Amino acid sequence: MEELHTKWEVYSPATGEKIAELDETPLESIPHLYTKSRQAFQTWSKLPIKERLQYLKRLRLLMVNKMDEIAEVISKDTGKVKIEALVADIMPTIDAIKHIEKHAMKALSRQKVSTPLMLIGKKSYIDYMPRGTVLVISPWNYPLQLAMVPILNALAGGNTVIAKPSEVTPLVGMCIDNLFHEAGFPEGTVQFAHGGKDLGASLTEQKPDYIFFTGSVRTGKIIGEVAAKQLIPSTLELGGKDPMIVLRDANLERAVNGALWGAFTNSGQVCMSVERIYVERPVYKEFLSLLKEKANSLKQGTRLTDDIGSMTFPAQIDIVAGHLEDALNKGAILESGTSPNDWKTGQTYFIPPTILSNVNHSMKIMKEETFGPVLPVVPFDTEEEVVRLANDTEYGLNSSVWTKDTVKANRVASQLVTGAVTINDVLITVANHYLPFGGTKQSGIGRYHGEQGMRIFCHEKAIMKDNGKKNSEIQWYPYEGKYTKFLSLFQHYFSEKTNWIQFGKEYLQLIKISKEKRK
Ligand code: NAD
Repeated sequence: MEELHTKWEVYSPATGEKIAELDETPLESIPHLYTKSRQAFQTWSKLPIKERLQYLKRLRLLMVNKMDEIAEVISKDTGKVKIEALVADIMPTIDAIKHIEKHAMKALSRQKVSTPLMLIGKKSYIDYMPRGTVLVISPWNYPLQLAMVPILNALAGGNTVIAKPSEVTPLVGMCIDNLFHEAGFPEGTVQFAHGGKDLGASLTEQKPDYIFFTGSVRTGKIIGEVAAKQLIPSTLELGGKDPMIVLRDANLERAVNGALWGAFTNSGQVCMSVERIYVERPVYKEFLSLLKEKANSLKQGTRLTDDIGSMTFPAQIDIVAGHLEDALNKGAILESGTSPNDWKTGQTYFIPPTILSNVNHSMKIMKEETFGPVLPVVPFDTEEEVVRLANDTEYGLNSSVWTKDTVKANRVASQLVTGAVTINDVLITVANHYLPFGGTKQSGIGRYHGEQGMRIFCHEKAIMKDNGKKNSEIQWYPYEGKYTKFLSLFQHYFSEKTNWIQFGKEYLQLIKISKEKRK
């Protein structure tokens, strides 16, 4: 059957030029993708982990050779500066492959676990079984990493994958598709569906065996509902409104530099970006003035000499403008940047780095995800107050605490309801694949990265082994004469101090009764 492809025009967010015309994956092809995926699962899942890792290694080496080419595609498609494509999108992906190559064997092989004394003579293990077809749906802000890292973890675990990268950055989606193709993964093992929301929604309705979703809370809830109806296990990696807390004894120069990068990298389109800063009052003025001075020296554009690229997605600009207007209408003061009315209009999407003061929690800018280069800064007086303000949001992805006092840092960090906290640093937990990644509250459900990042794509199978030599077990039939013996056995075993002599006696008695009754 001839498939009808819809033509898809792609425009550069930084220049407004048309840069490509692509074919969307037709909705009608989805059942075929699933059939192919399920067929490929039969062989891919049976390959030894070592062999699966060979494919991942080939992909890694291919990406190392093509690093600059990939950075070019990401920069063109997103409007971000090339260094950010390299350092924050490509490098973490390649590092994730390296991590999987090093740890998958151990993480996914049979694990021996202890067996309690009550089950004497047996051995216990956990096996990690691939689930089947994993559906990966990803966003546009780090379009390479957020698609590839879950795909790679799922593949390492023996699953086959259907991925739907973001329609906002289709060139990166195509680039990933080509990379897997060129690395020689077996037919059907990893397939791509290129298109938008409707395609994503149809893919979720075809009963994948796992859904790994990264994106907005709004879509996360829709996907969570579909998954719940079908009892499909899923991970939801959603948005954030991350607070940065600067205490009076912090290294202010470092805190300001961290704030600038944490808030403005990728034009603020980062789920874990610094979206609001609380500064202890005695250092507030100094912090704000240094922050303004440094923000004004940042260069916008997409050359190698520039610091901040363009926004990626036009609809996001409206959200940023809405938050900014709401804050300005409620009395916020523009310390740097301009009001949305003065943003350059036209086809390109550069928003100047914007700093706000005189803000409070009645404003959207302090509670809702802005996802743009806008940074509100607030003074605070007490630790209790700042912890309350930091937690006063529906989100809970990341946060940071800045101080030279380790005790204070740990005390504040322990009270923040977020999936990660950095101390004297920003965002960086995501770059360490030994750490779990994920959110609390509306920021998501589940964790990935590290060993758990591989294991979520497997179901754990509990195995217990008996050598099969005994003809029966003490708890098996017949029960006659055993109740009081068991009662006494448990009392001796679980009491404050185990009475081993009595325990042994009761146990032997039970074995004896079992043998006699069976005669
Ligand atoms: P989005 O939710 O609009 O889209 C994400 C993906 O879901 C896209 O591929 C889209 O086509 C698809 N989609 C949309 N509707 C769908 C539906 N009904 N069924 C199935 N798929 C559907 O998000 P976005 O605008 O692409 O990304 C920005 C958001 O992602 C921000 O909120 C950001 O914080 C969040 N994000 C979270 C993380 C994290 O790891 N926690 C990382 C990056 C971005």
